[in-house]
Amino acid sequence: MIRIASAGFLHESNTFSAIPASLDLWQRSGILDGDAIRREYAQSQSTLAGFLALEQEDPQVQVVPLVFSRLTPMGAITPDAIEHLFQRIVDAIRDNGPWDGVLLPQHGAAVSEPYLDPDGELLRRVRELVGPDVPIGMALDMHANVSPAMVEPADIVTVYQTNPHIDARAQALLCARLLVQTIRGTIRPRMALATPPLVVNILCQGTNDQPMSELLAAADIQRRRPGVLSVSVVEGYPYADVPEMGMSFIAVTDNDQALADDVAQQLARAAWDLREPLNHGGTAVDDALRQAHAASAAPVVLFDVGDNVGGGSPGDSTHILHAARALGIANLLQAVCDPQVVQQCQAAGVGGRISAAVGGKSDHLHGAPFPIEATVTALGDGRYEETGPTHGGFRFFNDGPSCALKTDDGYTLLLTSRGAGSASLQQFRSLGIEPTDYQIVVAKGVHSPRPAMEPIAKALIWVATPGVTSADLSTFTYQHRRVPLYPFEPDTRWP
Ligand SMILES: [Zn+2]
Repeated sequence: MIRIASAGFLHESNTFSAIPASLDLWQRSGILDGDAIRREYAQSQSTLAGFLALEQEDPQVQVVPLVFSRLTPMGAITPDAIEHLFQRIVDAIRDNGPWDGVLLPQHGAAVSEPYLDPDGELLRRVRELVGPDVPIGMALDMHANVSPAMVEPADIVTVYQTNPHIDARAQALLCARLLVQTIRGTIRPRMALATPPLVVNILCQGTNDQPMSELLAAADIQRRRPGVLSVSVVEGYPYADVPEMGMSFIAVTDNDQALADDVAQQLARAAWDLREPLNHGGTAVDDALRQAHAASAAPVVLFDVGDNVGGGSPGDSTHILHAARALGIANLLQAVCDPQVVQQCQAAGVGGRISAAVGGKSDHLHGAPFPIEATVTALGDGRYEETGPTHGGFRFFNDGPSCALKTDDGYTLLLTSRGAGSASLQQFRSLGIEPTDYQIVVAKGVHSPRPAMEPIAKALIWVATPGVTSADLSTFTYQHRRVPLYPFEPDTRWP
C-alpha cells in the first residue's frame, strides 16, 4: 500500500487590503481534520477532490487528508495565524507518518508576516521534515505568484489551467498520479520555472479570451512533446506586493532538465511577445451603466472589478450604486456585505421597513455608505449549495446571515454578513430573488462569477471601479515587486 499525506492551506493575500487574515478568521472559517475534509471536499471539484480521487482509480494508494483550511482572499496572514497553520500541518504530517509521498493543496499567492512567500516556506518545512527521498507534489491556483522556493524543493507542481477555475480537480489528480509514478520509480520528474518580468492585467486573464487562449494553445503544443509530463501557464496575482509577483511558467518532464527548461522558456517568450494585449483596462462606471441601461436584452451583467471578493476586496463597494442613482438608472440587483444592516433587517422582519446606509464601511476605497429606504423581502442564513460548475470547484457556500430588500427607488439588494463573491445564482435564488428579472445585475468579481452569470447574461461589461482589486495597477504603491517589470516600466527589455 502506498500512503500519501495531504495537508495545506489556501489563501490569496491582497497586501493592499486593510483586513488582515487573522487566526480568529481562519478558525471561524474552519481548520478541518480528516473526516471533515472528506465531507466538505471529496464530492466537490476542488484540488482536494482531485487528490482524494486517486484512491478510486488506484486501489494500491491511500490518500490521507490531515489538515486543511481555506479563507476568503483578504489582507496578509498575521504572524500567529501563519505559525499556527504551519505547526498544525507539519505536526500532523510528522505524527501520522511515515509516508511514501506528500500532496500539498496550496494556492501560491499567500503572503504573511514575516514570510512574504509562506507557500514556499511551508514546502521548505515539509521537505525538511520528510527528508530528500519522499516525493512531494503541490497543486496551485492559476493566480499563484510562483517563486523558486515553491518549485525547487518539490518534485511535481501542477497549476489550474482555466480561469474561471473549473479544472482544479483535474490538475490535482494529474499531480497525484505523477506523484505515485514517482514513488513507484516509473518516472523521474525534472522541473523548470520561467519568470519573465511581466504582469498580466486581471481583465486579460480569462482563458477563453484572446490573447490568453493563444498562450494556452501554445502550452498544449508543448504538452504533446515526448517526455513532457505537465505544462503550466501561471497568470499570477497582481495585488500581492512580493518579489515573485507576475506571470510564470512551469514545465515537468521525465528526467530531462533541458527539455523542461526549453518548454518553460518558449512559453515565457510567447507571453512576452503578447505583453501589450495582456494589459488593457475596463469600462468607466458611467459608460458601463449607460450601456447596460440602453441594452434591449437583459440582464446585462456588470463586473465590479474594484470589489472583486475573490481577489481580496471586502464586498461592500457602493461605487456602482451611487453612480446608478446619480444617472437615474434603477432595476438593478447587487449583493453588498453589511452585517450591521442585516441585523437591522432581522429586527424589522420580512415585510418590515428599514431606513439605513448600506455598505462602504470597510475602508475609504470602496465608496460611501448608500442611503436607502427599503422593505425587507427575505431573511436567510446565507448558506447555499451549487452543483453546477464553480470557480475553484467549490460546492458549499456560507455568506453568513443574509437578507434581501427592495429600496423605494428601485434597487434590489442582497445583504450578506461576510464579503461574498457572485459565484452562484443560488446566492440570489436562495433568498427568492430571480436575477433574470433585472435589467442590470452587478457581480462582485472578474472571472469567478462567469460560470454563474454567462448562462443568463445577454451582455457582460467589466467596470473600472476603484478598490483594492482595481484593474488600474498604477493606483497601488509597491515596495517589494521586481524592477523593471512590465507594464509598470513600459520600456522593460527581456530576456
Ligand atoms: Zn485564482
